[in-house]
Amino acid sequence: KFNKDLGQHILKNPLVAQGIVDKAGLKPSDVVLEVGPGTGNLTVRILASSRKVIACEADPRLAAELVKRVQETESAKKLEILHGDVMKQQLPYFDVCISNTPYQISSPLTFKLLLHRPLFRCAVLMFQREFALRLIARPGDSLYCRLSVNCQLYCKVTHIMKVGKNNFKPPPKVESSVVKLVPYNPPPPVNFEEWDGLLRIAFLRKNKQIRSNFMTNSILQMLENNYKTYCAENEIPIENNLNFKEKVDKLIASISFQDKRASKMDIDDFLKMLLVFNQNNIHFC
Ligand code: SAM
Repeated sequence: KFNKDLGQHILKNPLVAQGIVDKAGLKPSDVVLEVGPGTGNLTVRILASSRKVIACEADPRLAAELVKRVQETESAKKLEILHGDVMKQQLPYFDVCISNTPYQISSPLTFKLLLHRPLFRCAVLMFQREFALRLIARPGDSLYCRLSVNCQLYCKVTHIMKVGKNNFKPPPKVESSVVKLVPYNPPPPVNFEEWDGLLRIAFLRKNKQIRSNFMTNSILQMLENNYKTYCAENEIPIENNLNFKEKVDKLIASISFQDKRASKMDIDDFLKMLLVFNQNNIHFC
């Protein structure tokens, strides 16, 4: 009955469903975005504590089932359905997002939410356990990665509860966890493409010196091209006898990052690095 390609694992434990909704701290005036309402086990609970629910569902069969479930109730007028793939939608205004997410879109969905404006107040999201642990990992943790840094740039992320496979029908292969994202408001004044470009280089080999990731020919070539394009576009003269490798090496030394490794660097370290490169007209996108 359920479509595995759409990650359809229905949350059958009512205590867990209510726990997720309670953790969102809904106000009666809230507009809630729910991604993948399925048969509506979370939706009916969200409807009871909010002004409006906008539920985005890719499977028309389940969307129809949800409408039917709600139509005879007092909440019927509060439910709006967005049909189709959430990744292809322009998201409407919402105060809070709640989702038992389809795991195959975990990462793009997280960043679609975090880059959405105006900012939402919080999101309570069920993810596969390993993904959730990556989101919350701190410098030095074994799961600390580009995903952790990208997410923690934009929000405070906390682990809310573990959810075992048997709370779902059909049970997924992996364990799950619920996390809460609370965006920093105002958001950091960082160009995400630039930031992510730097992190991609930094986390190529996260336990090596970040300097050595920069010193590979392909990375130097890419950054030198970006540098020359940026200088040309902005009428900035390029130094005679440019030795780009040396230039990058000196920049890294100028902030004393020769021995830094991405696995131990925090958000401020990455911001400092991005700033010094950008100030010297080196861009990552
Ligand atoms: N919320 C329900 C629950 O907790 O019982 C169902 C959760 S199930 C893990 C994920 C739901 O997301 C399914 O209903 C699936 O059809 C839907 N879905 C999968 N991919 C989607 C996408 N790209 N856009 C919107 N909905 C999607």
